[in-house]
Amino acid sequence: MNMNVDKCPDCGSSKIGKGKLEGYATLRPLGKIFTTGSAIIVDVCTECGTIIKMRAEKPEKFTTN
Ligand SMILES: [Zn+2]
Repeated sequence: MNMNVDKCPDCGSSKIGKGKLEGYATLRPLGKIFTTGSAIIVDVCTECGTIIKMRAEKPEKFTTN
């Protein structure tokens, strides 16, 4: 299984685009009020608009120690 090729679970299309949520939509670590969050990278199906995957751009911000 090639992890780099995503398929839309809804329509089966492999035309996956990438987007980014940032600004007010940043994901912040819970309980770390003054820590800046991470933008979110989003894989979206360009055929039907289904959001396939969301992931934090900077996952290291969410380590808990
Ligand atoms: Zn789709």
